[in-house]
Amino acid sequence: MRSGSPGVDVEYAIRLTKELVRIPSVTGEEGEIAKFLAEELSGLGLKVELRRVQGDRFNVIGVLKGGEEGVALAFHGHTDTVPPYGMEDPFSAKEDEEYIYGRGSCDQKAGLAASIAALKAVVDSGVELRKGLAFLGVVDEEREHRGSYALVEDGFKADAAICTEPTGLEIAVGCKGTLPVKITTFGKAAHGSAPWRGINAVYKMAKVLLALEELEPRSVTVPGVGEVRGSLNVGLIRGGEAYNVVPDSCSIWIDRRLVPGETPGDVLREIREILDEFGRSDPDFRAELSVDRPDWGWEPIKKRGLKPCLVNPEEDIVRQISEAHEGVTGDRGKLKFSSGYFEMDFLVNDLGIPTVAYGPGDPELAHTPEERVSKHQIAIASRVYAAVAVALAAKS
Ligand SMILES: [Zn+2]
Repeated sequence: MRSGSPGVDVEYAIRLTKELVRIPSVTGEEGEIAKFLAEELSGLGLKVELRRVQGDRFNVIGVLKGGEEGVALAFHGHTDTVPPYGMEDPFSAKEDEEYIYGRGSCDQKAGLAASIAALKAVVDSGVELRKGLAFLGVVDEEREHRGSYALVEDGFKADAAICTEPTGLEIAVGCKGTLPVKITTFGKAAHGSAPWRGINAVYKMAKVLLALEELEPRSVTVPGVGEVRGSLNVGLIRGGEAYNVVPDSCSIWIDRRLVPGETPGDVLREIREILDEFGRSDPDFRAELSVDRPDWGWEPIKKRGLKPCLVNPEEDIVRQISEAHEGVTGDRGKLKFSSGYFEMDFLVNDLGIPTVAYGPGDPELAHTPEERVSKHQIAIASRVYAAVAVALAAKS
């Protein structure tokens, strides 16, 4: 290990992961876990603020101060999880030799625990900090992103950040954006025995669907990673009231994934052009387009969308993680671009903080009934986080 890397209490990181899994924190119910984290961080000597985002939902902002003003490195993670769905025994944090099991174990309580273990290692080592280190535990990542939105509203500042989401210890220099789009076509209701008296909104939508299938989402080449493809999936359709009535409306919901260089505005324009074209050629065609998904009711996130982001692989934070990963494991680590969405978007695009996602856990297991996290990966992540923290924040 590189000189200056403090020793990490791996047992502590693993114990803390289990403790966090045992506190259910399904989106909307992040109150208890926030208070637990605040106490844990205060105990380590961080200055902690519980920032109310909504009701009993708090972002946890902990800062370990350095000699100078400012934060050299922030660890960003979300405290909420998806519901257990069909998962057996979601909150007991059972374990075997290799894994800790439970809802949130991988996504992403292990990442929270590993970053806290790294902060503890820095404190325990007594290393003198030139600049501060921060822990950001945010709410609502799995739904409307109100927690990271609040960080932006507060104008949080740091020189660099690590998003502690599960990446299987690969180094994600960016992620796709995701824009949920709803289209509704309108018709005119009539009795099913006399359809010529109505306008069938489902037939109108059929035209839209075929045109959407023809759209070729863009691909881009990400330096150091390779080709990245955007995508469009029509995931939901609803239309009509009864089999014997001409439907007067039909709606679809599209999950459109954006690659760097695309904006939500570009995507909406592309789809609107299709609708406008049908409107010109068919006087009965009427359609509406909006940013919407069934579980989003909060206007600010509809307005903002979830954007793609990319940091230059030459950025210092990328090199630091790569070097620390090498120091701990012997290899430089693999750069990747995440197909899934990470809130590094808010840090990079809105706050201008160079950020990578790097964390313990196989991202494929997130949200599944098999969710678990490797203890070995928790140990590596904790050590890498501690080494990067010291490299960026300590007095040289
Ligand atoms: Zn997550």
